[in-house]
Amino acid sequence: MKKLVAGGLALMLAGSALAAASVQDVAERYRKLVLAVGQHDPNYVDAYYGPPALQQQAVKEKRSLAAIRKDAEAAIADLAGQQGKDADEALRVDFLRKQLKAIAARIDMLDGKKFTFDEETALLYDAVTPHYDRAHYEALLKKIDQLVPGDGPLPQRVQAFRARFVIPQDKLKVVMDAAIAACRARTAKEMALPEKESFVLEFVKNKPWSGYNWYKGDAHSLIQINTEFPIYIERAVDLGCHEGYPGHHVYNALLERHLVKEKNWVEFSVYPLYSPMSLIAEGSANYGIEMAFPDEERVAFERDVLYPLAGLDPKLAGQYAELQKLLGKLSYADNDNAQHYLEGRFTREQAIEWLVNVALYPPEKAGQRVQFYEGLRGYVINYNLGKDLVKAWVEKQVTSKDPAEARAQRWAAFKQLLSSPRLASSLQ
Ligand SMILES: [Zn+2]
Repeated sequence: MKKLVAGGLALMLAGSALAAASVQDVAERYRKLVLAVGQHDPNYVDAYYGPPALQQQAVKEKRSLAAIRKDAEAAIADLAGQQGKDADEALRVDFLRKQLKAIAARIDMLDGKKFTFDEETALLYDAVTPHYDRAHYEALLKKIDQLVPGDGPLPQRVQAFRARFVIPQDKLKVVMDAAIAACRARTAKEMALPEKESFVLEFVKNKPWSGYNWYKGDAHSLIQINTEFPIYIERAVDLGCHEGYPGHHVYNALLERHLVKEKNWVEFSVYPLYSPMSLIAEGSANYGIEMAFPDEERVAFERDVLYPLAGLDPKLAGQYAELQKLLGKLSYADNDNAQHYLEGRFTREQAIEWLVNVALYPPEKAGQRVQFYEGLRGYVINYNLGKDLVKAWVEKQVTSKDPAEARAQRWAAFKQLLSSPRLASSLQ
């Protein structure tokens, strides 16, 4: 009897030691699984700065999708019943579970399995976007119609107006440099940035996106801007904040500092593109634009600094900013268009028609956008739904009525989100 009791105790101790060790163990396995999937899909691993030997091992082994999927399922099973010893650890367990589920779903897709748009985004990004019909957007278009001068159909008038705000090619570098410098200065004023953080800016062509941040580790990013199509003046602040400060560059650098370096949470040294992390990444990068440049401050900066640098007429800055705000309300039209196209209800021509006439998207970029749907599919929801979820969560943490104090609370909450494993369904 005594022996049995002792044995039971030993078993219990072993059990708790096993539980404590196994989240870290699952995290190690998760990191290898992401690298393994990357061998089947060149776009899958968006960033990796862990030990190079693990990457070499993934290349050498080139494990089958079936074997990777089986291991992902086993890792999910190992997390069953794990709670984490505090709130942060609970988020970590939840993070690993959802990221692993996304690995399994992405493997199913690589294997040819077809999900509906909403099924796909729930599995890959931990969120489902609301959907609206054309009439919903047409009601918004009526409001925009009143703001844009001239005669003729609205899309053409918007386009004619917009054409006055293209940054000339030879001014692109000076405008982008000024925008990024301002995004960085404004972010650094509100939160301590990791020491020795840095980035390199490059101009590229022939990409399905307009900008990209490639995070290299050690607080360093390569930021690429696609110059194949005209770049409108508002994109300078958009891209500077989104790709740089306080967007992707800062998000990755804070995850590296707080989770990888301070806690040895190795799972954050790899970033699988088609995973719930992307909703937080894109959502915070988009919300970061208005964090760094609240409304009037943005208009003033663009009018007084960027317009002159680009050789544009500063007197038009206010009206153009108004238009941008209204166009922003159409952003969910992109999700509905992607859904209709990917589920086969829209042809390519219909998707382009919707982009131009419903989303008021620049016509010259509509083909590029459809290409984006084909490559990244449900990823489109991460930009607008992601932004709205991040914004709502941050605003919920603000308790002060005093504007300066509220601003400080907003930044503190934003920084907390960028340094934590919180995913979409934990934002609600
Ligand atoms: Zn992005």
